Amino acid sequence: MNSRITGLPLAALFVGLIFPLQIMAACQASGLQIQVLGSGGPGASSGRASSGYLLWLNGQSKVLIDAGGGTKTVFHQSGASVADIELIAMSHFHPDHSADLPAILWPAGAAFSLAGPEGSELFPSIASWARLLFEAGGAFAVLEGRLEYSLLEVESGGATVTTIWSNGELEVTGIGVPHGDVPTIGYRVDYGEFSVAFSSDQNGSNEAFVEFIKDVDYLVIHMAGNENSTGVIASLHAKPTVWGQMATASNAGHVIVSHIATSDQNQLDENLSILAANYGGPVTVASDLMCVDVR
Ligand SMILES: [Zn+2]
Ligand SMILES: [Zn+2]
Repeated sequence: MNSRITGLPLAALFVGLIFPLQIMAACQASGLQIQVLGSGGPGASSGRASSGYLLWLNGQSKVLIDAGGGTKTVFHQSGASVADIELIAMSHFHPDHSADLPAILWPAGAAFSLAGPEGSELFPSIASWARLLFEAGGAFAVLEGRLEYSLLEVESGGATVTTIWSNGELEVTGIGVPHGDVPTIGYRVDYGEFSVAFSSDQNGSNEAFVEFIKDVDYLVIHMAGNENSTGVIASLHAKPTVWGQMATASNAGHVIVSHIATSDQNQLDENLSILAANYGGPVTVASDLMCVDVR
């Protein structure tokens, strides 16, 4: 294993030695933190919850990005409050990114902004998805009277950067990313001089995304493809080489590897080695509940 690659529980000792403050600090502190709710992908994923992230600002869980299967449990383990959530930003409507949102919102309900991709022939827009779930006649219409949300559909073509939400401290922007035929959005969060980007699932072929994430302090990537992936997988997911090149080209300060779909440790180690051969900065392997202190 490359000494720059750390993770939990894979290399808890290394984490303690190399990044004691950034990675082990508790969320709910002052400033901005990223908390990983789900570091897995679809399928077994070694028991990891599917994709989801919280952004904590000054002790409050302000932003939820994705809510894949299993994230409801981790959300409550984290101590997050549904009432504190001001923005929910969905990357796309594969179940490993979206299936637990009704469970997180039930039964308390909440008021929030809701962002996500525009629709296509195959996938609903964020507005249609919310209507099919939460409004009269929807699968979870029982939540209708408990939710108050304003919708923002984000262009998924990949050239346009959309300003999504700001509370005066955090600013969230989005851009379409290429994920096969699935309308998908990658997100960036700026907080003063600090910044974080979430790649979402993508194959890495949108050069505008590299510009979009330029100079971020932390880049969260979704490692679902292997170097020899072909066909549908290759159209959906970037290879480790491509992730490394993207992180280098964007001058990312630190890469967090998430959406770990494989349950094969040897495969993960191989992917991490290839990533490290293409990116010289620090790399951390995500784990569920991990908290990263951005500042
Ligand atoms: Zn996924
Ligand atoms: Zn996906």
